[in-house]
Amino acid sequence: MQIQENFSLKQYNTFGIDAKAKQFSFFSTSDELADLLEYSKEPPACILGGGSNILLTKDIDGTVLKNEIKGIEETGEDDNYIYVKAGAGENWHQFVQYCIGRNWAGLENLSLIPGNVGASPMQNIGAYGVEIKEVFNSLTAFHIHDRTIHTFTTGDCEFGYRESVFKRKYKNEFVILRVTFRLHKSPVFHTEYGAIKDELERMQVSSLSIKAIARAVINIRTAKLPDPKVIGNAGSFFKNPSIPHSDFLRLKEKFDSIVGYNNPDGTVKLAAGWLIEHSGPKEGISWKGYRTGDAGCHAKQALVLVNYGNASGKEIFELSEAIMQSVEKKFGIMLEREVNIYR
Ligand code: FAD
Ligand code: NAP
Repeated sequence: MQIQENFSLKQYNTFGIDAKAKQFSFFSTSDELADLLEYSKEPPACILGGGSNILLTKDIDGTVLKNEIKGIEETGEDDNYIYVKAGAGENWHQFVQYCIGRNWAGLENLSLIPGNVGASPMQNIGAYGVEIKEVFNSLTAFHIHDRTIHTFTTGDCEFGYRESVFKRKYKNEFVILRVTFRLHKSPVFHTEYGAIKDELERMQVSSLSIKAIARAVINIRTAKLPDPKVIGNAGSFFKNPSIPHSDFLRLKEKFDSIVGYNNPDGTVKLAAGWLIEHSGPKEGISWKGYRTGDAGCHAKQALVLVNYGNASGKEIFELSEAIMQSVEKKFGIMLEREVNIYR
């Protein structure tokens, strides 16, 4: 067990914020985790995966434990499905590629999402019309207080839109150890998102495959989203808000080009990026492409806040506050942060 003191987390969060942890360590088995918890006495301040969905607004006055549990294992199959278990510390995109390489379908739309397998159920990661809840089978998680390992099935996780029990109800209570996915032997293609259709057409794909969809997703994401290795960011900073259909119609009367998608429950999901793009720090100025010091709002997708170099987490957080206030003032919609804030 190696514990490092006053440890810089700059390399361990994709915003590239130079905050320090009072204590920092890695664990690669549940026994190592148990030993670390025993040693530090206090519950950890943060369980870290790839650090691609966090904003550190100050130094962490506690212990940060980075999950490095590895391993990918096929655990069973039936006529339709393959069951595959992955360690929480496996890189998400590498895991997706591993499955695509074996023709196991279901994860292709979720290609190139940064971070690790262990965080994928945290917010039920989603992209291009697919969420992990659709291919999730179960997970094992270590309870920080009773020190036992629990199994969660899909129902137990209470997955919602970028939500699960781990993000709210059981926040800071469980460390996810391994996740088992139920992948299709015969693919079910999801190409309903306009960007995917357009990209597949551009690629001149004649016969649809999970490899082609993954390639399309990778192409779109590479062209549109800032690479955290180049410009610090944590993806979408806010969630897309859902509102009653009647409220959407009222907004549509006033703002003709507003973007909304019908949800199965009758509500309408607004594109938060559109709301941000169409409001700004001052009348006539958009947040999209806006920069204050090294904190900014990405020029190609206003939903993504960025660190151009030396922004502090506090500066990014303050920018997010200003954006939320202006969106609320203009549209009467209160945005909710998707990124996990450490304050
Ligand atoms: P971290 O940032 O390390 O952690 C996130 C939260 O989960 C923290 O609160 C942490 O304490 C907790 N946590 C992490 N691991 C564990 C564990 N093993 N047990 C318990 N708690 C844990 N997200 C999407 O949903 N869809 C996207 O399309 C998408 N695109 C992105 C694009 C970019 C460029 C970036 C930078 C981010 C994007 N994200 C997206 C957000 C992010 O990549 C995902 O949410 C990802 O799953 C976070 O994984 P991580 O390992 O980096 O988590
Ligand atoms: P986009 O294509 O510009 O679309 C804007 C928003 O409209 C998306 O967020 C998406 O909602 C919604 N949308 C688009 N087409 C839709 C359809 N046919 N049906 C229902 N909703 C639709 O979005 P983008 O920013 O480039 O992102 C593309 C995808 O990657 C999205 O699914 C997005 O969630 C995901 N992504 C997520 C993050 C993150 O950090 N969470 C970061 C980058 C990209 P949904 O978000 O509900 O899909």
